[in-house]
Amino acid sequence: MADTVKAENRKGFLVDTSRCIGCRSCQVACKQWNKLEADKTANQGSFENPRDLTPALFNRIRFVEGSNETGEMSWRFLNERCMHCGDAGCMKVCPSPGALYRTKDGIVAYNKERCISCKYCVAACPFNIPRYDGEDKVSKCNLCLDRVGGGMAPACAKACPTETLKFGKRNDLIARAKSAKKTLYGENSLSGLGVVYALEGPPEQYGLPASPSIPFSIFLWKDVIKPLGILGFWGSIGAVLLHYVTIGPKKVDDDLDAKEEGHE
Ligand code: SF4
Ligand code: SF4
Ligand code: SF4
Repeated sequence: MADTVKAENRKGFLVDTSRCIGCRSCQVACKQWNKLEADKTANQGSFENPRDLTPALFNRIRFVEGSNETGEMSWRFLNERCMHCGDAGCMKVCPSPGALYRTKDGIVAYNKERCISCKYCVAACPFNIPRYDGEDKVSKCNLCLDRVGGGMAPACAKACPTETLKFGKRNDLIARAKSAKKTLYGENSLSGLGVVYALEGPPEQYGLPASPSIPFSIFLWKDVIKPLGILGFWGSIGAVLLHYVTIGPKKVDDDLDAKEEGHE
């Protein structure tokens, strides 16, 4: 993991898509707990509603509509939300200390008061998650920090009637899913996602990137150019100090002084 949270302390979700019935209790529970306004939507020929995350919708069910081998209508459902990435692009680029931060449970949380509305986190997120509210401040799933801090499960997991959303210690959830022979998505991507999926098909079928990654330009800036710049800065300071300690301060050349004063 890119930062300091130990793997055994990390909490997260296992989302078993084979159990989801598309009831969207998770969406409603999230809105209720976080006191989010209803989104105005329109029928666009699909039961998927809303069709995208919004500043007031932190998790939603993506409907994957198609047909099966026998030509019958088939539906798959995916709970879409912030993945609480181990190596979080949003945190990497955020220039405002404390606007996006990691909790002791490994949650990528945000503090609206610290956000300076630069929107860098949007470009850096491999999953297109952060949205901006009316005040132009970041908004995304905080994994019900307040509930988790009080020993409760996030509102969405509590409301899910089929145990599609299982919340707990990440290591335990992954071990259980593996013993049930589930195919996992996100176990190791980006130093491990905080939301790991048990999928019934390839990730692309669910609209998930097969190999999620932080855009190269952001990696280059944050992991290569910036550390080299800092190294160069401290290297110069170190060289000056070394010179001072080993050779001493620069002395005025007496002869040169004399020449300048015309006493040759
Ligand atoms: S999914 Fe996007 S917003 Fe969430 S932690 Fe990862 S990079 Fe940040
Ligand atoms: S918009 Fe806010 S949270 Fe996003 S990178 Fe800028 S300061 Fe950080
Ligand atoms: S509450 Fe559970 S079963 Fe219902 S849509 Fe959400 S994840 Fe699926």
